[in-house]
Amino acid sequence: MTPTLVEARSICPKRMLHGPCGGVRDDGTCEVGPHITCPYPLILDQLPWRLAQDARLGHLMRPAPRVSGRLASKLAAGEFVILAELWPPADADLRRIVARYQALGPSVDAVNVADSPLAQPFMSSLAACAAFKQAGLEAIMNLSCKDRSRIALQAELMGAGALGINAVLCITGDHPTLGDHKAAPPVYDLDSFGLIRLARQLRDDGQFDSGRAVAGRPSYLIGAAGSPFTRPVEVQAERAAAKIFAGADFIATQAVFDLDRFATFARQMTDFGALERGRLIAGVAVVTTPEQARWLNSNVPGANVSPAFMEMLARALPSESRRAALRWNAEFVARLRQIEGVSGILLYAMEHDVESLGELLAEVARTDAGAGR
Ligand code: SF4
Repeated sequence: MTPTLVEARSICPKRMLHGPCGGVRDDGTCEVGPHITCPYPLILDQLPWRLAQDARLGHLMRPAPRVSGRLASKLAAGEFVILAELWPPADADLRRIVARYQALGPSVDAVNVADSPLAQPFMSSLAACAAFKQAGLEAIMNLSCKDRSRIALQAELMGAGALGINAVLCITGDHPTLGDHKAAPPVYDLDSFGLIRLARQLRDDGQFDSGRAVAGRPSYLIGAAGSPFTRPVEVQAERAAAKIFAGADFIATQAVFDLDRFATFARQMTDFGALERGRLIAGVAVVTTPEQARWLNSNVPGANVSPAFMEMLARALPSESRRAALRWNAEFVARLRQIEGVSGILLYAMEHDVESLGELLAEVARTDAGAGR
């Protein structure tokens, strides 16, 4: 029997109101375990983000306030942006990691700082973002609902505003059972849609969720995650568009492996009118070894590293495989840039391999120069 939304929320370990999350596995089961079948694909017509027809009238929405900074200016001007994902250190020392990202130079517009990825403790995203800001780099604070109530989420958002963090990426977050602190209680007071609403209320309305006024409003871009390759794929563009209509300024996606599927996703977002109001940033996993490719394929829902790429790596001489992989990645980025509606890329370094990001960006610059861009 088809569950109701209330029943689906009682099944879902994250108690999603705006499900499904990005953790649905290819067989339709939940990221938390194969004993749970994600109920949301069965009740799409009951989901609030699908029912909010008024919210889809993007052209009637109030324009977002102007946010300062290089990332905001480039996105507003329709210029292509390059973001680099960072997992903060799992210790209390940031100097080494900040220096490595500083070495990437001005080719990176902002560093996207993860929030306890894989539900494991790392340095807080807010603290790491503050250090990047001090070092002269723009920073995007990831903020997850997994272990914060709406009180704690708003506290973090105000902290981000006070420290001049350029953007907040609102995510529901990995369930604690996926990490190494399995006894940690999940919170999930809100999901990503609820968090986008909080961030927008604070910034645009100067208001807490309680209705109490905020004197000094934060000023940041609001980002959200997109999952073009996660089941059910046919509604992912609509869900990402709904996040923009809920208040997100940009969608940063999981890593893209299938360019045709991603082009369809971008076109559908355009058709929904979402890219008139927000921007679409495509994820790129910078894979340089067969081991990394195999790990992605086995562990990340929706990941599907091209068999042609694997064959190319297998054929290349060991001394040449890394360079060949980076060339392949640069060509992939060039093809992504051709897709209409794509405003930037978010580079995911595997195994903290920031050096590969730098080499890829150099390769991209060479490809651009060759193409006269
Ligand atoms: S996959 Fe996500 S939305 Fe679906 S049941 Fe699991 S946690 Fe909930």
